[in-house]
Amino acid sequence: MTSPQHIAILGATGSVGRSALDVVKSIDGMEVFAISGRSQLDLLEQQAQEFHPKYVVAADPVTATPFQFRTDAEVLIGAEHLKTIASDPRVDTVLASIVGFAGLESALAAVEHGKRLALANKETLVVGGHLINAAAVRSGAEILPVDSEHSAIFQAIQSGKRSAVKKIVLTASGGPFREFHADEMHGVTVEQALAHPTWDMGRKISIDSATMMNKALEIIEAKWLFDISADQIEVVIHPQSLIHSMVTFVDNSTMAQMSPPDMRLPIQYALTWPDRVAGPAADFDFSVAHQFDFHPPDFDRFPALELGFEVARTGGSAGAVVNAANEAAVSAFLDRKLSFTDIVGACREVLEQHNFESHPTFEQLVAADRWARQEMAKWITA
Ligand code: NDP
Ligand code: MG
Repeated sequence: MTSPQHIAILGATGSVGRSALDVVKSIDGMEVFAISGRSQLDLLEQQAQEFHPKYVVAADPVTATPFQFRTDAEVLIGAEHLKTIASDPRVDTVLASIVGFAGLESALAAVEHGKRLALANKETLVVGGHLINAAAVRSGAEILPVDSEHSAIFQAIQSGKRSAVKKIVLTASGGPFREFHADEMHGVTVEQALAHPTWDMGRKISIDSATMMNKALEIIEAKWLFDISADQIEVVIHPQSLIHSMVTFVDNSTMAQMSPPDMRLPIQYALTWPDRVAGPAADFDFSVAHQFDFHPPDFDRFPALELGFEVARTGGSAGAVVNAANEAAVSAFLDRKLSFTDIVGACREVLEQHNFESHPTFEQLVAADRWARQEMAKWITA
């Protein structure tokens, strides 16, 4: 019998983190070495009691310091410990499932230390794809996508040579406003935007799906993961979310991956690859009728898509700026300080004002992130 894989789950209390723990519970050979959370400390404590990790990281000292954790695990307080855990020599795999820019530094540490990085945090590649890929070349770290579209591409792409890939087709559900007229989108509420038709996810990505900024981020993510140009990426609306993405080869054969929408499958594949094992995800039910629709996206109603292609082409610091502007805009929308239709336009304006850097260092990315958040704050209060 081979020794168990030691896994660190960064963002264990989130939607992806909870699904990952479900996977770990259902398959053999995984041991939870560390978990992290930020605000949901009761849940983090409960997870520690159930999975017996060696370490628990509570990222926010303000909430965690007064909290009395009842656990045998060693509790580390402060975001700097995310890096400590991600680089611990006893860890084999790091699941990066923190949301936003906050997940970049620990994901980068995991790659620098040669871990397998199961990557849910797409913002990591959007902001610092060049740093992550260069670090992976140096350390030999494997980067396995958890995002369902990129997992689908990763699965489909294995059926041909990389040199024979013609294009990648990213599927998108279209979100809750797929059929809304442009005029109807002005007044949409937080509740409407959070109600995703096919996926149950964290708040930030749910809003990103509604604006289609999520697909924009995924275009950039695909570019870095599969070393492909923006011109070889296409987006198609597939409302059923059953086909999770496709790869077309030069002979015009298109390979698709399909399964019921359940994040536990791509999470599991990132943990077990190249093996496939029985897990908690449900089988496809062919005893009932299914319909597969594909529509071209509406670039006018969803301007985020064009922005995504542009940023994928530009590279450099553009990803950091658009990502930070979007994080700040989404948070303002959730706080009811910005209207839904202003999110993407404001991001474009912030992007257009920034001083472009073609090969930013980590420190320059941090500065670009901070600058873009300040610019967005000014935009909102102007
Ligand atoms: P959630 O909001 O549900 O969870 C985020 C996790 O990160 C929580 O554990 C949260 O802790 C923690 N966290 C939040 N902010 C910080 C911070 N500043 N420092 C440290 N930890 C923090 O998000 P999701 O699980 O939905 O998404 C996680 C990532 O995965 C995102 O990048 C998303 O784009 C990507 N993804 C998600 C999918 C999904 O189905 N949900 C699908 C594909 C990709 P706490 O809750 O305790 O505050
Ligand atoms: Mg996705």
